[in-house]
Amino acid sequence: MSLEGRGAVITGGGRGIGAAVARSLAERGARVVVAARSAGEIEAVATALRSGGIDAWACRVDVSDPESISDLFSQARGHLGEIDILVNNAGIATAAPVARLELEDWNRLLSVNATGTFLCTQAVLGGMVERGWGRIVNVASVAGLRGASYIAGYSASKHAVLGFTRSVAAEVARDGVTVNAVCPGYVDTPMTDGSIANIVSKTGKSAEEALEAILATTPQRRLITAQEVAAAAVFLCDEEARGINGQTIVLDGGAIGGLR
Ligand code: NAD
Repeated sequence: MSLEGRGAVITGGGRGIGAAVARSLAERGARVVVAARSAGEIEAVATALRSGGIDAWACRVDVSDPESISDLFSQARGHLGEIDILVNNAGIATAAPVARLELEDWNRLLSVNATGTFLCTQAVLGGMVERGWGRIVNVASVAGLRGASYIAGYSASKHAVLGFTRSVAAEVARDGVTVNAVCPGYVDTPMTDGSIANIVSKTGKSAEEALEAILATTPQRRLITAQEVAAAAVFLCDEEARGINGQTIVLDGGAIGGLR
C-alpha cells in the first residue's frame, strides 16, 4: 500500500489521533501538512517526521475560523502543490447535562467539529474532483451513531459529521473521490484524559475509578489506541479502498454492535 507523493492535510495533527494519522500517512510515502491550534505541538510532530527524511510542515489553524482555514489551505498548497488527502480530525468534547449545556459550548462544539469539517472539505473538494482523485476521512465518533447521557452537544456535532460524510460521498461518487468516516470509542489520548479529569471533578471518584467506569462500558475493557484509529484512516486512503465510500469504520471493541 503506497501513498507515495500524495499531499495530505491532517487537522488536529499536533497530538493524539491526528499525530498518529500524520505519522502513518507519512510512513506510506505521503507528504504531510500537520495543522492545529497549538504551534508547539504541530511543530514537534513535523520536526520528528522531517528528521526521518519525510516532507512535513506545521501550519497553525483554528478550524472554527473561516479565514484561518482559508489561510491554512493556501499555505498547504504552497507546500504540497495539490491536496490529495484530507483528514478532518480536529475536534473538541464537552460533557454536561443538557439543562446545563451553555449555548456558547453548544455553538463551539458545532463550530469546531461539524462546521470545521464542512469548511475544510469545501476548501479541497473542487481540486480533488478536477484531478479525479481524492480521499477525505472524517474522524467522527461512536457518539455520531448513538446518544448517551451528558454528551448531547458532542453527539449532535458528530451525528452532523456522519450525515455530511454520507451526503458529500454521494455528490462525488463518480469523480474518483471517496469520503468516509472513522468512529472510535474511547481512545487513549489527551481528550480521554480530559474526560477522566471531568468525571473526577464532578463525582469525586479517583482517576483510577473514573477510568474503570469508562472501561466498564467497553466490551474489550480497554482504551483504543490512536495508532489503531490511524491504521483505519490510512486504509481508507489506499487506492484499493476506492470502492468504500460514504461508510463509517467503527473502532470500539464491539459496543455499537451490541457486545457487552
Ligand atoms: P486531542 O484533544 O488529543 O487532540 C485534538 C486535536 O485537535 C489537537 O491537536 C487540538 O489542537 C486540535 N484542535 C482542537 N480544536 C481545534 C481547532 N478549533 N482548530 C484546530 N485544531 C483544533 O483529541 P483526540 O482524542 O486525538 O481527538 C481527535 C478526534 O477524534 C476528535 O475529533 C475527537 O472528537 C475524535 N474522537 C476522540 C475520541 C477519544 O476518546 N479520544 C473518541 C472518538 C472520537
